[in-house]
Amino acid sequence: MAIGALEAGGTKMSLGVFTSRLRRTAALTIPTATPDETVPRIAAFFREHAVTSLGIAAFGPVDVRRGTPGYGTILNTPKLAWRRYPLLQALRDELDIPIALDTDVNAAALAEVTQGAAKGLKNCLYLTVGTGIGGGLVSEGSLVHGLMHPEWGHLLLPRHPDDPMLNGVCPFHASCAEGFASGPAMQARWGMAAADLPADHRGWDMEAWYLAHLCMNAVMAVSPEVILLGGGVLHAPQLLPLVRSHLERLMGGYVDPELLPAMDDYVRSPALYPDSGLVGAALLGRGAKA
Ligand code: ADP
Ligand code: ZN
Repeated sequence: MAIGALEAGGTKMSLGVFTSRLRRTAALTIPTATPDETVPRIAAFFREHAVTSLGIAAFGPVDVRRGTPGYGTILNTPKLAWRRYPLLQALRDELDIPIALDTDVNAAALAEVTQGAAKGLKNCLYLTVGTGIGGGLVSEGSLVHGLMHPEWGHLLLPRHPDDPMLNGVCPFHASCAEGFASGPAMQARWGMAAADLPADHRGWDMEAWYLAHLCMNAVMAVSPEVILLGGGVLHAPQLLPLVRSHLERLMGGYVDPELLPAMDDYVRSPALYPDSGLVGAALLGRGAKA
């Protein structure tokens, strides 16, 4: 049995073929152009490898309501060519196999609880901080959906009192996590990419302050047993320890110390990064039903 996995991103499409035990046997990365150009290439690859089911980890926002006509349709994305594009349906028309789809971050969370840094846990929040901020949530062993899907990056946060920016960079909200703490927010605030900001720059403490507020809200709202923090901005090694210490302070001792793991365990790096999304797609594909 060959399982197809697709991580559909705004700039690239990562494709993989996996065995039922999740060993990868083939891989391909292609740029995300228009659907007319890109979808036939994806279909050709999976046809060539004779996959019998497919899982898709898609950039959002995307319709994740299984069993409805809109399932797997890309929603209000700034990538105009993909707006309202029925990604799952288009691949089903091409391949005629069972396909399951979720958000890239939900897929990543699923992969991490199944065989990564949150293995064995039933409540895990996976946050990625890069060009945007996104989050996937496994709650009581299930991926969380709803009206659409939770959008952790758009939780409203207080503005840091010393922030030189009055408003965040999110076009929708003046004061949300993505607006104040994404890579582009750091670029806008300091005039240089997060990747180039010196390790001792005060921007890192401010970044940690924002991410700790996001984590704090998550802890109080959904009580994750672990928070996994990944994405390009977390490549800066000084950031994670700063987030932990801000979060510990913000929690103010409220969570019973007998229940709360040590901060180093509670907020940690994903284990499968940067493949969390693709492995999650394979898991979705393995469970896909006609
Ligand atoms: P995307 O979100 O587009 O998938 P990434 O997760 O790689 O991409 O995130 C890109 C962001 O990560 C950029 O804002 C970049 O400046 C930042 N970044 C990349 N490498 C580093 C690094 N070593 N330290 C800090 N920030 C980094
Ligand atoms: Zn926002």
